[in-house]
Amino acid sequence: MNFASYVDIQARERPDELAVTDPQREMSYAELRAETDAVANGLAALGVEPGDHVALFLPNLTTFVTSYYGAMKLGAIPVPINLRFGEAEIAHVLRDVAPSALVVLDRFVDAFADRDLGVELVAVGDEDIEGTTDYGQLVADAEKSFHTAERLDSQVAEILYTSGTTGDPKGVQHTHGNLAANARGGARHMHMTSDTVYLTIAPCFHATGLNGTTTPSVVTGAENHLLPEWDPEMALRTMESRGITYTVLIPTMVLDLLEHGPGGYDIEPLETLVVGGSPMPKERIEQVEAALDCTLYEGGGMTETTPLAVINSPEQAVRKPGSVGTVAGAVARLRIEDPDTGEAVEPGERGELLWHGDTVMKGYHDLPTKNEAVFVEREGREWLRSGDIGHRDADGHVFLDDRLDDMIITGGENVYPREIEDVIYELDEAQEAAIVGTPHERLGEQVTAVVRGDVTEAEVQDVCRGSLADYKIPREVHVREEALPQTATMKIDKVSLRAELG
Ligand code: ATP
Repeated sequence: MNFASYVDIQARERPDELAVTDPQREMSYAELRAETDAVANGLAALGVEPGDHVALFLPNLTTFVTSYYGAMKLGAIPVPINLRFGEAEIAHVLRDVAPSALVVLDRFVDAFADRDLGVELVAVGDEDIEGTTDYGQLVADAEKSFHTAERLDSQVAEILYTSGTTGDPKGVQHTHGNLAANARGGARHMHMTSDTVYLTIAPCFHATGLNGTTTPSVVTGAENHLLPEWDPEMALRTMESRGITYTVLIPTMVLDLLEHGPGGYDIEPLETLVVGGSPMPKERIEQVEAALDCTLYEGGGMTETTPLAVINSPEQAVRKPGSVGTVAGAVARLRIEDPDTGEAVEPGERGELLWHGDTVMKGYHDLPTKNEAVFVEREGREWLRSGDIGHRDADGHVFLDDRLDDMIITGGENVYPREIEDVIYELDEAQEAAIVGTPHERLGEQVTAVVRGDVTEAEVQDVCRGSLADYKIPREVHVREEALPQTATMKIDKVSLRAELG
């Protein structure tokens, strides 16, 4: 089924209920249907055909949602572009997918028009104060309904680019079936219903904002409140005014909220705060729960798993600090194997995580060699190699130890940076910590720490000595006042740290 049909289904079932808002617009399900129909008509009038790519360079606004579903209704494939990408990365994405149209806000048109990108630019207005949207050329026949194109579950519904933490951004193809499985699995494991009130503040060009909240909200027929930029004060105000019950954030945002505090806002309805995308310091989880009086559910996933794969869910009797939870069994299966031999490992042993199931992507767009390398067959099933090293304990709790690419080999010993970073975060003043391997004549690589905060080199080494083996103690510690470099999805950019220190 075309995933965009959920918009039509909800418009029939609950036409007057609130579907999506941003700070300037509110849209019921009936309006969402009418506006996505108008966008589908508009794109068709521009010559966009089923199967074409439609790139979206849009912040978290209702226009993102209408453009995304409008393109999908037509059977075209929306390709959201990361707003933090630089010129070279944007050019890479546009070359890679060769979209038939690029939808941008008015204020970005000049910047794009100057670049001669060889793509049809479609400008849409920022929402105006009267609460209407000037769609310009993006809509045609605004009064005419559009018959949502038939699509198979196995056909590509969207392409999301990874941020390139470990190399060039790769276009991850999600099918209509992946999106539905991710949303239904989320509803099943996280108890989402039409009464859930979602806040989408993680960006919609990434799996956290798009498939963490935005696509599930139309499946459950719930309200989805979008905020276009990260501002803790604004987030808390919206949580209070909208009675937000559910949101998915990335660790940087959660740490900002902790630093900011609840600020006197009443966010009592907030039941579920999911955090994932990169490691959340273990030490900070309890502090956040106490400060915001909610339960923080750590989840693990990757763009390639849409992202639902492993989650701490309300139904779990025991939660283990540092664990990303148990496998979201409704949609995913996990195998852990020795990355060199491909043999499955025993519980408690570390290995590479491989995923199988309904949320696993169809493959990377136009990267046949990469696809051959990441999809492997084991015991009659196809599995996706994640590049993550982790382990599962006897109760089935999964721990993400690190990324294979970030592992340090020092004097023949394997070192997982995350373990050391967790220890450094025991220092309350450590605001950001990154461990990277830097070249060392005798050891091959040495353990190097980069820490932001009011700490000294000796304090960092002492806290590590308290709980880690000597080869894991950082031989070099760089303390900084400025923020550590970030990737386009706000993860600590270890590639550039290694380049800087190497
Ligand atoms: P690229 O794949 O290009 O390097 P990326 O890092 O942005 O880019 P994502 O799909 O956003 O790609 O990230 C997925 C990765 O994030 C996972 O493979 C895992 O290593 C890490 N990750 C996700 N959730 C967690 C978590 N809760 N704790 C630790 N790591 C996590």
